[in-house]
Amino acid sequence: MKIILNYLYHFFRLFFPSHCEACNKNLLKGEKTLCFNCLLDIPKTNFHKEKENSLNKLFYGITNIKYSTAFFFFRKGSKYRTLIHKLKYKGKDYLGIELGRMSGAEIKDSFFSEIDIIIPVPLHPAKKRIRGYNQSEMISKGLSEIMDKPYKTDILLRNIFTETQTKKNLEERRKNVNTAFKLKNQQYIEGKHVLLVDDVVTTGSTLIACANELLKSKNVVVSIFSVAFADNL
Ligand SMILES: [Zn+2]
Repeated sequence: MKIILNYLYHFFRLFFPSHCEACNKNLLKGEKTLCFNCLLDIPKTNFHKEKENSLNKLFYGITNIKYSTAFFFFRKGSKYRTLIHKLKYKGKDYLGIELGRMSGAEIKDSFFSEIDIIIPVPLHPAKKRIRGYNQSEMISKGLSEIMDKPYKTDILLRNIFTETQTKKNLEERRKNVNTAFKLKNQQYIEGKHVLLVDDVVTTGSTLIACANELLKSKNVVVSIFSVAFADNL
């Protein structure tokens, strides 16, 4: 049976080869999601090797973040931007899990091993309905599997707004993001080290709002992980 299945798999692969999600070349045997070249070329931040880094600086004096890292830099014209685009807008939820696994393998033996629990940035329920999933939750799933730490989605939630952001001025918008999240079951994270997970960080305002909410729980420590860091947009 196994031999037949294996044969069928290779037979179909001949006609429907899977493609590298970054450069679109056919994948070879042993390659998964990304081809070997794309895997080698990822513009990694390696921030899990330096506690003081340019991502961490976004939070200095604003909120209390212990460690922060991102898997790769998100830069104009980069072929890796397409990974985030497919994850957010093309229904490729499995890419989130795969990126989470890759990232988990990078950081699990670093000081990030100190974390106790993984919490994704929640998506607005209306957006989640349209997209079918929360991409940060998919990333958390992959991270959780490799780092062997639980992830929870019932602690940090979105408040539901009816007004649109676009009609607001900057000050109102900032206030809006500050009240966009709410903490539930906060006793669950008391005294714990939480890894807050996002897909892309640009200004950090969403993460700051989420961290401030998590920090309302007693003796909680917050660190940050994002797949991509848009440091020069
Ligand atoms: Zn490739």
